[in-house]
Amino acid sequence: MTTTQVVNPATEQVVTTLELVGADETDAAIERAQRAAVGWREIAPGDRARLLRRFAEAVDANLEQLAQLEVVNAGHTIGNARWEAGNVRDVLHFAAGIPERLLGNQIPVAGGVDITFHEPLGVVGVIVPWNFPMPIAAWGFGPALAAGNTVVLKPAELTPLTAVRLGELALQAGLPEGVFQVLPGKGSVVGQRFVTHPAVRKVVFTGSTEVGKEIMAGCARQVKRVTLELGGKSANIVFADADLERAAATAPYGVFDNAGQDCCARSRILVQRSVFDRFLELLEPAVRGVRVGDPADEATEMGPLISASHRARVASFIEPSTKVAFTGSQPDGPGFWYPPTVVLPDAPSDRLLTEEVFGPVVAVVAFEDEADAIRIANGTEYGLSGSIWTNDVGRALRVSRGVEAGNLSVNSHSSVRYWTPFGGFKQSGLGRELGPDAALAFTETKNVFIAT
Ligand code: NAD
Repeated sequence: MTTTQVVNPATEQVVTTLELVGADETDAAIERAQRAAVGWREIAPGDRARLLRRFAEAVDANLEQLAQLEVVNAGHTIGNARWEAGNVRDVLHFAAGIPERLLGNQIPVAGGVDITFHEPLGVVGVIVPWNFPMPIAAWGFGPALAAGNTVVLKPAELTPLTAVRLGELALQAGLPEGVFQVLPGKGSVVGQRFVTHPAVRKVVFTGSTEVGKEIMAGCARQVKRVTLELGGKSANIVFADADLERAAATAPYGVFDNAGQDCCARSRILVQRSVFDRFLELLEPAVRGVRVGDPADEATEMGPLISASHRARVASFIEPSTKVAFTGSQPDGPGFWYPPTVVLPDAPSDRLLTEEVFGPVVAVVAFEDEADAIRIANGTEYGLSGSIWTNDVGRALRVSRGVEAGNLSVNSHSSVRYWTPFGGFKQSGLGRELGPDAALAFTETKNVFIAT
Protein backbone atom coordinates (compact mmCIF):
# COMPACT_ATOMS: atom_id res chain seq x y z
CA MET A 1 0.00 0.00 0.00
CA THR A 2 1.48 3.35 -1.03
CA THR A 3 0.82 6.36 1.17
CA THR A 4 1.22 10.08 0.71
CA GLN A 5 1.79 12.84 3.22
CA VAL A 6 -0.53 15.79 2.96
CA VAL A 7 1.34 19.00 3.79
CA ASN A 8 -0.02 22.39 4.86
CA PRO A 9 1.64 24.80 2.40
CA ALA A 10 1.39 27.74 4.82
CA THR A 11 3.28 25.96 7.63
CA GLU A 12 5.10 23.05 5.89
CA GLN A 13 3.62 20.79 8.62
CA VAL A 14 2.29 17.33 7.75
CA VAL A 15 -1.50 17.40 8.10
CA THR A 16 -2.16 13.70 7.65
CA THR A 17 -1.03 10.59 5.83
CA LEU A 18 -3.36 9.08 3.26
CA GLU A 19 -3.40 5.70 1.54
CA LEU A 20 -3.21 5.89 -2.23
CA VAL A 21 -5.35 3.72 -4.46
CA GLY A 22 -3.45 1.37 -6.79
CA ALA A 23 -4.19 -0.07 -10.23
CA ASP A 24 -6.16 -3.12 -9.03
CA GLU A 25 -8.34 -1.05 -6.71
CA THR A 26 -8.95 1.42 -9.51
CA ASP A 27 -10.15 -1.39 -11.77
CA ALA A 28 -12.39 -2.70 -8.99
CA ALA A 29 -13.87 0.78 -8.46
CA ILE A 30 -14.50 1.25 -12.17
CA GLU A 31 -16.27 -2.12 -12.28
CA ARG A 32 -18.40 -1.15 -9.26
CA ALA A 33 -19.26 2.10 -11.04
CA GLN A 34 -20.20 0.14 -14.15
CA ARG A 35 -22.57 -2.08 -12.17
CA ALA A 36 -24.03 0.89 -10.30
CA ALA A 37 -24.68 2.71 -13.60
CA VAL A 38 -27.42 0.23 -14.47
CA GLY A 39 -29.53 1.17 -11.46
CA TRP A 40 -28.63 4.85 -11.41
CA ARG A 41 -29.88 5.53 -14.94
CA GLU A 42 -33.17 3.77 -14.10
CA ILE A 43 -33.91 5.92 -11.03
CA ALA A 44 -36.91 8.15 -11.72
CA PRO A 45 -35.83 11.69 -12.68
CA GLY A 46 -37.53 13.20 -9.62
CA ASP A 47 -35.78 10.76 -7.29
CA ARG A 48 -32.37 11.40 -8.84
CA ALA A 49 -33.04 15.13 -8.47
CA ARG A 50 -33.97 14.66 -4.80
CA LEU A 51 -30.77 12.70 -4.08
CA LEU A 52 -28.68 15.45 -5.68
CA ARG A 53 -30.50 18.08 -3.62
CA ARG A 54 -29.76 16.04 -0.47
CA PHE A 55 -26.10 15.86 -1.50
CA ALA A 56 -26.12 19.67 -1.94
CA GLU A 57 -27.67 20.08 1.51
CA ALA A 58 -25.05 17.78 3.06
CA VAL A 59 -22.32 19.93 1.50
CA ASP A 60 -24.00 23.05 2.85
CA ALA A 61 -24.28 21.56 6.34
CA ASN A 62 -20.53 20.80 6.24
CA LEU A 63 -19.47 23.95 4.42
CA GLU A 64 -17.27 25.30 7.20
CA GLN A 65 -15.53 21.96 7.68
CA LEU A 66 -14.84 21.62 3.94
CA ALA A 67 -13.55 25.20 3.82
CA GLN A 68 -11.22 24.64 6.78
CA LEU A 69 -9.89 21.46 5.15
CA GLU A 70 -9.02 23.46 2.03
CA VAL A 71 -7.26 26.10 4.10
CA VAL A 72 -4.93 23.51 5.64
CA ASN A 73 -4.53 21.31 2.56
CA ALA A 74 -4.25 23.90 -0.24
CA GLY A 75 -3.42 27.14 1.61
CA HIS A 76 -6.54 28.80 0.22
CA THR A 77 -7.70 31.90 2.05
CA ILE A 78 -10.66 31.11 4.26
CA GLY A 79 -12.84 33.53 2.28
CA ASN A 80 -12.04 31.77 -1.00
CA ALA A 81 -12.42 28.32 0.55
CA ARG A 82 -15.93 29.14 1.80
CA TRP A 83 -16.86 30.37 -1.67
CA GLU A 84 -15.48 27.13 -3.16
CA ALA A 85 -17.47 24.86 -0.86
CA GLY A 86 -20.55 27.01 -1.55
CA ASN A 87 -19.89 26.61 -5.26
CA VAL A 88 -20.02 22.81 -4.89
CA ARG A 89 -23.39 23.15 -3.13
CA ASP A 90 -24.69 25.47 -5.86
CA VAL A 91 -23.44 23.28 -8.71
CA LEU A 92 -25.25 20.33 -7.09
CA HIS A 93 -28.48 22.31 -6.66
CA PHE A 94 -28.25 23.41 -10.31
CA ALA A 95 -27.55 19.78 -11.32
CA ALA A 96 -30.62 18.69 -9.34
CA GLY A 97 -32.70 20.68 -11.81
CA ILE A 98 -31.36 18.65 -14.73
CA PRO A 99 -32.92 15.16 -14.53
CA GLU A 100 -36.45 16.52 -14.97
CA ARG A 101 -35.37 18.90 -17.74
CA LEU A 102 -33.22 16.65 -19.92
CA LEU A 103 -35.53 17.32 -22.84
CA GLY A 104 -35.29 15.70 -26.24
CA ASN A 105 -36.83 16.88 -29.51
CA GLN A 106 -39.84 15.77 -31.49
CA ILE A 107 -38.85 16.40 -35.09
CA PRO A 108 -41.46 16.55 -37.91
CA VAL A 109 -41.01 13.63 -40.33
CA ALA A 110 -43.13 11.87 -42.94
CA GLY A 111 -44.81 8.55 -42.07
CA GLY A 112 -44.19 8.56 -38.36
CA VAL A 113 -42.82 10.27 -35.30
CA ASP A 114 -39.20 11.14 -34.68
CA ILE A 115 -37.91 11.76 -31.16
CA THR A 116 -34.50 12.21 -29.55
CA PHE A 117 -33.21 11.04 -26.18
CA HIS A 118 -30.17 12.15 -24.20
CA GLU A 119 -28.74 8.86 -22.99
CA PRO A 120 -26.11 8.69 -20.22
CA LEU A 121 -22.63 7.57 -21.25
CA GLY A 122 -22.03 5.10 -18.37
CA VAL A 123 -18.96 5.60 -16.19
CA VAL A 124 -17.30 9.04 -16.28
CA GLY A 125 -13.76 9.58 -14.95
CA VAL A 126 -12.99 13.03 -13.54
CA ILE A 127 -9.33 14.04 -13.05
CA VAL A 128 -8.79 17.14 -10.92
CA PRO A 129 -5.77 19.45 -10.42
CA TRP A 130 -4.62 20.88 -7.07
CA ASN A 131 -5.45 24.53 -7.63
CA PHE A 132 -9.24 24.45 -7.07
CA PRO A 133 -9.88 20.94 -5.71
CA MET A 134 -13.55 21.42 -4.81
CA PRO A 135 -15.16 23.45 -7.60
CA ILE A 136 -13.36 21.73 -10.46
CA ALA A 137 -14.40 18.32 -9.13
CA ALA A 138 -18.04 19.40 -8.83
CA TRP A 139 -18.18 20.93 -12.33
CA GLY A 140 -17.52 17.39 -13.56
CA PHE A 141 -19.43 15.15 -11.14
CA GLY A 142 -22.53 17.37 -10.69
CA PRO A 143 -23.84 17.34 -14.27
CA ALA A 144 -22.41 13.87 -14.97
CA LEU A 145 -24.44 12.35 -12.11
CA ALA A 146 -27.50 14.40 -13.04
CA ALA A 147 -27.44 13.03 -16.58
CA GLY A 148 -27.50 9.45 -15.22
CA ASN A 149 -23.80 8.55 -15.26
CA THR A 150 -21.75 7.14 -12.42
CA VAL A 151 -18.49 8.88 -11.54
CA VAL A 152 -15.00 7.89 -10.47
CA LEU A 153 -13.02 10.94 -9.34
CA LYS A 154 -9.29 11.31 -8.93
CA PRO A 155 -8.15 14.32 -6.90
CA ALA A 156 -4.63 15.71 -7.33
CA GLU A 157 -1.91 14.00 -5.29
CA LEU A 158 -1.29 17.19 -3.26
CA THR A 159 -4.91 18.02 -2.40
CA PRO A 160 -7.09 14.95 -1.80
CA LEU A 161 -8.79 15.88 1.49
CA THR A 162 -11.90 17.78 0.39
CA ALA A 163 -12.62 15.29 -2.41
CA VAL A 164 -12.48 12.38 0.04
CA ARG A 165 -14.91 14.24 2.32
CA LEU A 166 -17.27 14.96 -0.60
CA GLY A 167 -17.30 11.22 -1.35
CA GLU A 168 -18.38 10.51 2.23
CA LEU A 169 -21.07 13.20 2.11
CA ALA A 170 -22.51 11.73 -1.10
CA LEU A 171 -22.99 8.37 0.65
CA GLN A 172 -24.47 10.04 3.72
CA ALA A 173 -26.91 11.89 1.48
CA GLY A 174 -28.16 8.56 0.14
CA LEU A 175 -26.43 8.20 -3.22
CA PRO A 176 -26.22 4.45 -3.83
CA GLU A 177 -22.84 2.68 -3.39
CA GLY A 178 -20.69 2.88 -6.49
CA VAL A 179 -22.45 5.91 -7.99
CA PHE A 180 -19.79 8.42 -6.89
CA GLN A 181 -16.36 7.13 -5.81
CA VAL A 182 -13.29 9.17 -4.90
CA LEU A 183 -9.95 7.50 -5.63
CA PRO A 184 -6.92 9.38 -4.28
CA GLY A 185 -3.91 8.19 -6.24
CA LYS A 186 -1.28 8.98 -8.79
CA GLY A 187 -2.04 10.45 -12.20
CA SER A 188 0.18 7.84 -13.82
CA VAL A 189 -1.79 5.03 -12.13
CA VAL A 190 -5.40 6.00 -11.37
CA GLY A 191 -5.70 8.79 -13.95
CA GLN A 192 -4.13 6.64 -16.66
CA ARG A 193 -6.53 3.79 -15.88
CA PHE A 194 -9.48 6.15 -16.51
CA VAL A 195 -7.96 6.71 -19.95
CA THR A 196 -7.27 3.07 -20.75
CA HIS A 197 -10.12 1.20 -19.03
CA PRO A 198 -12.80 0.51 -21.67
CA ALA A 199 -15.69 0.84 -19.18
CA VAL A 200 -14.86 4.52 -18.59
CA ARG A 201 -16.74 6.19 -21.44
CA LYS A 202 -15.61 9.75 -20.84
CA VAL A 203 -12.70 11.53 -19.16
CA VAL A 204 -13.06 15.06 -17.83
CA PHE A 205 -9.56 16.37 -17.31
CA THR A 206 -8.53 19.69 -15.78
CA GLY A 207 -4.83 20.36 -15.51
CA SER A 208 -1.80 21.27 -17.56
CA THR A 209 -1.94 21.50 -21.33
CA GLU A 210 0.96 19.05 -21.54
CA VAL A 211 -0.83 16.25 -19.65
CA GLY A 212 -4.13 17.17 -21.33
CA LYS A 213 -2.65 16.39 -24.74
CA GLU A 214 -1.51 12.95 -23.51
CA ILE A 215 -4.99 12.27 -22.12
CA MET A 216 -6.59 13.25 -25.42
CA ALA A 217 -4.20 11.04 -27.39
CA GLY A 218 -4.87 8.13 -25.01
CA CYS A 219 -8.63 8.59 -25.21
CA ALA A 220 -8.44 8.61 -29.02
CA ARG A 221 -7.55 4.90 -28.98
CA GLN A 222 -11.06 4.09 -27.73
CA VAL A 223 -12.77 7.13 -29.27
CA LYS A 224 -13.41 7.99 -25.65
CA ARG A 225 -15.20 11.27 -25.03
CA VAL A 226 -13.10 13.94 -23.41
CA THR A 227 -13.52 17.39 -21.92
CA LEU A 228 -10.28 19.30 -21.34
CA GLU A 229 -9.82 22.40 -19.18
CA LEU A 230 -6.17 23.38 -19.54
CA GLY A 231 -3.80 26.27 -19.02
CA GLY A 232 -4.13 29.96 -19.72
CA LYS A 233 -2.20 33.18 -20.30
CA SER A 234 -5.08 35.59 -20.16
CA ALA A 235 -4.94 39.28 -21.01
CA ASN A 236 -6.32 42.14 -18.96
CA ILE A 237 -6.68 44.91 -21.58
CA VAL A 238 -6.87 48.46 -20.26
CA PHE A 239 -7.86 51.21 -22.73
CA ALA A 240 -7.05 54.87 -22.13
CA ASP A 241 -10.76 55.72 -21.83
CA ALA A 242 -11.30 53.27 -18.93
CA ASP A 243 -11.80 54.11 -15.27
CA LEU A 244 -8.04 53.78 -14.67
CA GLU A 245 -8.30 53.97 -10.89
CA ARG A 246 -10.67 51.02 -10.77
CA ALA A 247 -8.75 49.09 -13.42
CA ALA A 248 -5.51 49.47 -11.45
CA ALA A 249 -7.09 48.82 -8.05
CA THR A 250 -8.65 45.54 -9.24
CA ALA A 251 -5.86 44.27 -11.53
CA PRO A 252 -3.93 42.57 -8.66
CA TYR A 253 -7.01 40.53 -7.75
CA GLY A 254 -7.46 39.49 -11.38
CA VAL A 255 -4.10 37.72 -11.27
CA PHE A 256 -2.96 37.20 -7.65
CA ASP A 257 -6.13 35.53 -6.38
CA ASN A 258 -5.24 32.01 -5.17
CA ALA A 259 -1.59 33.18 -5.40
CA GLY A 260 -1.92 33.23 -9.18
CA GLN A 261 -2.57 29.48 -9.26
CA ASP A 262 -5.65 30.06 -11.35
CA CYS A 263 -6.10 28.98 -14.95
CA CYS A 264 -8.05 32.24 -15.49
CA ALA A 265 -5.34 34.48 -13.98
CA ARG A 266 -4.99 37.69 -16.00
CA SER A 267 -1.21 37.27 -16.04
CA ARG A 268 -0.66 39.78 -18.87
CA ILE A 269 -1.81 43.37 -18.42
CA LEU A 270 -2.01 45.21 -21.75
CA VAL A 271 -2.19 48.97 -21.25
CA GLN A 272 -2.74 51.62 -23.93
CA ARG A 273 0.53 53.49 -24.35
CA SER A 274 -0.88 56.98 -23.62
CA VAL A 275 -1.81 55.90 -20.05
CA PHE A 276 0.92 53.30 -19.47
CA ASP A 277 2.98 55.30 -16.94
CA ARG A 278 -0.07 56.56 -15.09
CA PHE A 279 -1.44 53.01 -14.85
CA LEU A 280 1.82 51.70 -13.35
CA GLU A 281 1.77 54.53 -10.80
CA LEU A 282 -1.72 53.47 -9.75
CA LEU A 283 -0.88 49.75 -9.84
CA GLU A 284 2.08 49.97 -7.47
CA PRO A 285 0.17 50.83 -4.25
CA ALA A 286 -2.53 48.31 -5.20
CA VAL A 287 0.04 45.51 -5.48
CA ARG A 288 1.85 46.55 -2.31
CA GLY A 289 -1.53 46.61 -0.56
CA VAL A 290 -2.39 42.95 -1.26
CA ARG A 291 -2.54 41.27 2.14
CA VAL A 292 -0.34 38.14 1.91
CA GLY A 293 -0.25 35.85 4.92
CA ASP A 294 -1.94 33.23 7.08
CA PRO A 295 -4.77 31.87 4.93
CA ALA A 296 -6.88 31.14 8.03
CA ASP A 297 -6.98 34.86 8.84
CA GLU A 298 -10.23 36.40 7.54
CA ALA A 299 -8.38 39.53 6.35
CA THR A 300 -5.84 37.67 4.21
CA GLU A 301 -6.12 38.13 0.45
CA MET A 302 -3.33 35.84 -0.77
CA GLY A 303 -1.90 32.65 0.70
CA PRO A 304 1.16 30.55 -0.14
CA LEU A 305 1.97 28.51 -3.24
CA ILE A 306 1.07 24.83 -3.14
CA SER A 307 4.54 23.28 -2.68
CA ALA A 308 8.27 23.92 -2.49
CA SER A 309 8.82 22.55 -5.99
CA HIS A 310 6.08 24.72 -7.43
CA ARG A 311 7.61 27.78 -5.76
CA ALA A 312 10.97 26.89 -7.33
CA ARG A 313 9.26 26.64 -10.72
CA VAL A 314 7.60 30.04 -10.31
CA ALA A 315 10.87 31.62 -9.14
CA SER A 316 12.70 30.22 -12.17
CA PHE A 317 10.74 32.59 -14.43
CA ILE A 318 12.49 35.60 -12.88
CA GLU A 319 15.97 35.71 -14.38
CA PRO A 320 18.75 38.17 -13.49
CA SER A 321 17.90 40.12 -16.65
CA THR A 322 14.15 40.33 -15.86
CA LYS A 323 12.93 43.88 -15.30
CA VAL A 324 10.95 43.72 -12.05
CA ALA A 325 8.87 46.90 -11.65
CA PHE A 326 7.82 46.27 -8.05
CA THR A 327 6.75 43.50 -5.70
CA GLY A 328 4.30 43.07 -2.86
CA SER A 329 4.94 41.50 0.52
CA GLN A 330 5.39 37.96 1.85
CA PRO A 331 5.56 36.65 5.42
CA ASP A 332 8.78 35.38 6.98
CA GLY A 333 9.16 31.86 8.36
CA PRO A 334 7.94 28.53 7.07
CA GLY A 335 5.48 28.22 4.18
CA PHE A 336 5.85 28.22 0.40
CA TRP A 337 5.53 32.01 0.02
CA TYR A 338 6.12 34.10 -3.06
CA PRO A 339 5.40 37.84 -3.23
CA PRO A 340 3.10 39.45 -5.82
CA THR A 341 5.52 40.45 -8.58
CA VAL A 342 5.09 42.86 -11.51
CA VAL A 343 7.49 42.52 -14.45
CA LEU A 344 8.05 44.59 -17.60
CA PRO A 345 9.21 42.29 -20.42
CA ASP A 346 11.11 43.90 -23.32
CA ALA A 347 10.35 41.45 -26.11
CA PRO A 348 7.06 39.82 -27.17
CA SER A 349 8.88 36.46 -27.16
CA ASP A 350 9.71 36.74 -23.41
CA ARG A 351 8.43 33.58 -21.73
CA LEU A 352 6.74 35.77 -19.11
CA LEU A 353 4.40 36.81 -21.94
CA THR A 354 3.90 33.39 -23.54
CA GLU A 355 4.12 30.71 -20.81
CA GLU A 356 1.80 30.06 -17.90
CA VAL A 357 3.65 30.87 -14.65
CA PHE A 358 0.79 29.71 -12.39
CA GLY A 359 2.04 31.95 -9.61
CA PRO A 360 1.74 35.60 -8.51
CA VAL A 361 3.70 37.10 -11.41
CA VAL A 362 2.15 39.53 -13.88
CA ALA A 363 3.70 41.03 -17.02
CA VAL A 364 2.68 44.54 -18.11
CA VAL A 365 3.08 45.66 -21.74
CA ALA A 366 1.95 48.67 -23.79
CA PHE A 367 -0.25 48.62 -26.92
CA GLU A 368 -1.09 51.32 -29.45
CA ASP A 369 -4.72 50.87 -30.50
CA GLU A 370 -7.61 48.43 -30.55
CA ALA A 371 -6.18 46.27 -33.35
CA ASP A 372 -2.81 46.11 -31.59
CA ALA A 373 -4.48 45.11 -28.29
CA ILE A 374 -6.36 42.25 -29.97
CA ARG A 375 -3.21 41.13 -31.81
CA ILE A 376 -1.16 40.96 -28.60
CA ALA A 377 -3.98 39.34 -26.62
CA ASN A 378 -4.27 36.61 -29.27
CA GLY A 379 -0.51 36.11 -29.59
CA THR A 380 -0.52 32.94 -27.48
CA GLU A 381 -1.70 29.38 -27.97
CA TYR A 382 -3.90 29.76 -24.89
CA GLY A 383 -7.40 31.23 -24.90
CA LEU A 384 -9.18 30.79 -21.60
CA SER A 385 -10.29 34.11 -20.18
CA GLY A 386 -9.56 37.82 -20.09
CA SER A 387 -10.79 41.28 -19.14
CA ILE A 388 -11.45 44.44 -21.12
CA TRP A 389 -11.51 47.86 -19.43
CA THR A 390 -13.14 50.66 -21.41
CA ASN A 391 -16.08 53.03 -21.09
CA ASP A 392 -16.95 52.68 -24.79
CA VAL A 393 -19.66 50.02 -25.19
CA GLY A 394 -18.96 49.56 -28.89
CA ARG A 395 -15.27 48.97 -28.23
CA ALA A 396 -16.07 46.58 -25.37
CA LEU A 397 -18.15 44.47 -27.74
CA ARG A 398 -15.72 44.67 -30.69
CA VAL A 399 -12.77 43.62 -28.52
CA SER A 400 -14.84 40.91 -26.79
CA ARG A 401 -15.59 39.44 -30.20
CA GLY A 402 -11.98 39.82 -31.32
CA VAL A 403 -10.24 38.14 -28.39
CA GLU A 404 -9.90 34.38 -28.86
CA ALA A 405 -10.92 33.22 -25.37
CA GLY A 406 -13.85 31.42 -23.83
CA ASN A 407 -14.60 33.63 -20.82
CA LEU A 408 -14.32 37.39 -20.98
CA SER A 409 -15.46 40.12 -18.64
CA VAL A 410 -15.80 43.83 -19.29
CA ASN A 411 -14.86 46.22 -16.47
CA SER A 412 -14.58 43.28 -14.08
CA HIS A 413 -12.52 40.11 -13.65
CA SER A 414 -15.23 37.54 -13.11
CA SER A 415 -14.96 34.27 -15.05
CA VAL A 416 -17.05 31.69 -13.31
CA ARG A 417 -20.75 31.37 -12.62
CA TYR A 418 -22.21 27.89 -12.33
CA TRP A 419 -25.07 28.78 -14.67
CA THR A 420 -22.91 30.23 -17.50
CA PRO A 421 -20.63 28.19 -19.78
CA PHE A 422 -16.90 27.91 -19.01
CA GLY A 423 -14.04 26.63 -21.15
CA GLY A 424 -11.15 27.47 -23.42
CA PHE A 425 -10.33 28.31 -27.03
CA LYS A 426 -7.26 26.88 -28.77
CA GLN A 427 -4.90 24.96 -26.43
CA SER A 428 -6.77 26.07 -23.30
CA GLY A 429 -9.21 23.25 -23.70
CA LEU A 430 -11.93 21.36 -25.46
CA GLY A 431 -15.62 21.44 -24.63
CA ARG A 432 -17.46 23.51 -22.05
CA GLU A 433 -18.43 22.95 -18.43
CA LEU A 434 -21.16 24.59 -16.36
CA GLY A 435 -23.97 26.64 -17.91
CA PRO A 436 -27.33 25.59 -19.30
CA ASP A 437 -25.85 22.80 -21.48
CA ALA A 438 -23.55 21.27 -18.85
CA ALA A 439 -25.38 17.93 -18.77
CA LEU A 440 -25.34 17.46 -22.54
CA ALA A 441 -21.58 16.94 -22.38
CA PHE A 442 -22.38 13.75 -20.42
CA THR A 443 -24.92 12.26 -22.81
CA GLU A 444 -25.21 10.77 -26.28
CA THR A 445 -28.06 11.98 -28.45
CA LYS A 446 -30.16 9.08 -29.69
CA ASN A 447 -32.61 9.49 -32.56
CA VAL A 448 -35.63 7.17 -32.74
CA PHE A 449 -38.07 7.01 -35.67
CA ILE A 450 -41.42 5.31 -35.08
CA ALA A 451 -43.44 4.48 -38.18
CA THR A 452 -47.13 5.23 -37.84
P1 NAD B 1 -1.31 18.34 -13.97
O1 NAD B 1 -1.62 18.26 -15.41
O2 NAD B 1 0.06 18.02 -13.55
O3 NAD B 1 -2.25 17.36 -13.15
C1 NAD B 1 -3.64 17.43 -13.18
C2 NAD B 1 -4.23 16.11 -12.76
O4 NAD B 1 -3.89 15.11 -13.73
C3 NAD B 1 -3.72 15.57 -11.42
O5 NAD B 1 -4.78 14.93 -10.75
C4 NAD B 1 -2.68 14.56 -11.84
O6 NAD B 1 -2.50 13.54 -10.89
C5 NAD B 1 -3.30 14.00 -13.09
N1 NAD B 1 -2.34 13.40 -14.03
C6 NAD B 1 -1.01 13.72 -14.18
N2 NAD B 1 -0.47 12.95 -15.13
C7 NAD B 1 -1.43 12.13 -15.59
C8 NAD B 1 -1.47 11.12 -16.59
N3 NAD B 1 -0.40 10.80 -17.31
N4 NAD B 1 -2.64 10.49 -16.82
C9 NAD B 1 -3.74 10.81 -16.13
N5 NAD B 1 -3.77 11.75 -15.17
C10 NAD B 1 -2.62 12.42 -14.91
O7 NAD B 1 -1.75 19.81 -13.53
P2 NAD B 1 -1.62 20.49 -12.10
O8 NAD B 1 -0.21 20.92 -11.95
O9 NAD B 1 -2.26 19.67 -11.05
O10 NAD B 1 -2.58 21.77 -12.31
C11 NAD B 1 -2.13 22.96 -12.84
C12 NAD B 1 -2.61 23.12 -14.28
O11 NAD B 1 -4.04 23.00 -14.36
C13 NAD B 1 -2.32 24.49 -14.84
O12 NAD B 1 -1.77 24.39 -16.12
C14 NAD B 1 -3.69 25.15 -14.92
O13 NAD B 1 -3.81 26.17 -15.86
C15 NAD B 1 -4.58 24.02 -15.20
N6 NAD B 1 -5.96 24.34 -14.83
C16 NAD B 1 -6.90 24.56 -15.79
C17 NAD B 1 -8.19 24.90 -15.46
C18 NAD B 1 -9.25 25.15 -16.49
O14 NAD B 1 -10.40 25.08 -16.14
N7 NAD B 1 -8.92 25.39 -17.72
C19 NAD B 1 -8.54 25.00 -14.13
C20 NAD B 1 -7.57 24.76 -13.17
C21 NAD B 1 -6.28 24.42 -13.54
